[in-house]
Amino acid sequence: MFRRGRTPKGIPVGKDGYVPRRDIVRRYQEIGDFRDSESDDSVILPGRLTPEQIAEWWENPSVCDIEGIDTKESDIYSVPLSIRGKKRKALKRIAVLSDRKESDRIKKILADSFTAEELEEMAEGRSLMVTVQPHLRDCTGFYLRRQDGVPVPEIVLEEGTTADGIVHEAVHHLRAREGRSAFPTRNGVLDQGYRRLPKSERDTIVGREEKETVAETVARTRIDPVESGYYDRIPGQSSRAAYLHDQEVISGSKALKGRAAVKAAERNYGRTSISRAILSANRKGKR
Ligand SMILES: [Zn+2]
Repeated sequence: MFRRGRTPKGIPVGKDGYVPRRDIVRRYQEIGDFRDSESDDSVILPGRLTPEQIAEWWENPSVCDIEGIDTKESDIYSVPLSIRGKKRKALKRIAVLSDRKESDRIKKILADSFTAEELEEMAEGRSLMVTVQPHLRDCTGFYLRRQDGVPVPEIVLEEGTTADGIVHEAVHHLRAREGRSAFPTRNGVLDQGYRRLPKSERDTIVGREEKETVAETVARTRIDPVESGYYDRIPGQSSRAAYLHDQEVISGSKALKGRAAVKAAERNYGRTSISRAILSANRKGKR
């Protein structure tokens, strides 16, 4: 039987003996050319491939297309028809691995919460992949920033996560791309020195990144039925009350985008409840 692992050529293989779809997408974004998905190649391989069958594409994704990955009608890169123009073009470069309904919902939320320029920034270079899972253990989502072992930035979401949770992870990505992240980053890639920092310094960085991300998410969204899990960590205030307070203080419950959102979060940060949250590393929440 097969075990999940890698072949000698470094091609990942699942328990069923096929290359997992998520790994194919990651490889395409890592070394492929997005123009490939604007047209269909004369040779189209099926979506389920063994490492041997995919070997040539793995070295050079331009040699042919894989059904549903770099073909024109790929579900992974689909965008709801209601989204037009520059936003549509940018969202066409962001992979969402889920069923079509969930993917449409996620892309609409991204289109509503970010400007076209911000979506273009998020989709630059190797762009971003979003994977959806039926259930995550301790959180509604997390962001895997680009670093050693993570060649393509990735957001993992629990299915059905509300706008607050989706925008939160996208804000982490935008902050990394724009050089606004609390993490030491070069061109959106985590600096290797980060891992060598003492734990207390890393915890401070993680805490700052999370709180500022929560504030910016509040600026970009209207009142959400599910507030960030970090609102549980504010002494003397209930989670919901703290969240509603921040919605009022940051943006008067309006949904802002672009510079207006970033500025509203920065300018009002000192008055927010989230700025007083105590995040200890051993408790998990929305990451
Ligand atoms: Zn987070």
